[in-house]
Amino acid sequence: MKALVYRGPGNKVWEEVPDPTVSDPTDAIVKVETTTICGTDLHILKGDVPAVTDGRILGHEAVGTVTEVGPEVREIKVGDRVIVSCVTKCGTCDYCEKGMPSHCQGVGGIGWIFGHLIDGTQAELVRVPFADNGLIKVPEGVSDEQAVMLSDILPTGYEIGVLYGAVKEGDVVAVVGAGPVGLAAIMTAGTKGASKVIAVDGNAFRLEQAKAFGATDAVNIAETQDVTAALKAFSDDGLGVDVAIEAVGIPATFSTALDAIRPGGRVANVGVHGAPVQFPIERDWINNITITTGLVNATTTVDLLGEIEAGHIAPERFATHRFTLDQIMEAYDTFANAVDHDALKVILTAE
Ligand SMILES: [Zn+2]
Ligand SMILES: [Zn+2]
Repeated sequence: MKALVYRGPGNKVWEEVPDPTVSDPTDAIVKVETTTICGTDLHILKGDVPAVTDGRILGHEAVGTVTEVGPEVREIKVGDRVIVSCVTKCGTCDYCEKGMPSHCQGVGGIGWIFGHLIDGTQAELVRVPFADNGLIKVPEGVSDEQAVMLSDILPTGYEIGVLYGAVKEGDVVAVVGAGPVGLAAIMTAGTKGASKVIAVDGNAFRLEQAKAFGATDAVNIAETQDVTAALKAFSDDGLGVDVAIEAVGIPATFSTALDAIRPGGRVANVGVHGAPVQFPIERDWINNITITTGLVNATTTVDLLGEIEAGHIAPERFATHRFTLDQIMEAYDTFANAVDHDALKVILTAE
């Protein structure tokens, strides 16, 4: 088969590799029909994720059809159309039992292994360990482009942004960063009854998209002198927002989130950080705030499928650019320069 293979920092090659095979009895093989590229893949290519070694097939998001199952796979059958969850889970370790498979000890201590510790989904075929736990059947009426957003991005924005931020009825929520993950938080914040969802970004296209994804307001940081004051002004009493979701991953945006919340407020960090941030404990020791971080557990995929089926969310909006799998190098160029291309998520499909 053909696959996108990591060849060290800055290098990737679409090349012929051996087909994956069932190696554990709980494995399944999935023919990838739709996949996409994640910001994390770009971090890997920069060399930021040293656990990814030369020869690894990239990617952790896909929708496809099961072509083979191991003898201990019970629920998933050959021919099923499935979402490949970005989180692999054994289902029996302490972390899986308590609903935090992001740290599944049965797969090596971290649930994100596709395109990281094992071969991933940017390929014609992918081997899926613990297939009964990591594959979700796609109902009729849900398209591939909708479903592929449930591999990672929608659960990430929802779980690590909206749920960890404990967004509740009436909350004023600022989402700092209106890239794909921020938009996923924006799209799902409404399902918890947020009264205002404020998109914060410096890019006019993304802010305009944010409104279509459900933001009630937008703050363009490129045109705003005092962003903190502008965000606090969205609360009735001017004390700050209830929840700020950080969806960029740089020190400045973490500070924006922290500065915007009210006493008792919450910062839910979703951004992938590569450098330390400042935490002004001398200011905030007295403020009863909560800061959360995390890797997606992907335990809400079925709930989010329900939201799609009910017409409450429309994740096909993420798909701005379409390519075939063998055009993956071009797709990476588009996604890596997303701002120049007005790109959100690029969709890759098998021919
Ligand atoms: Zn991802
Ligand atoms: Zn586990």
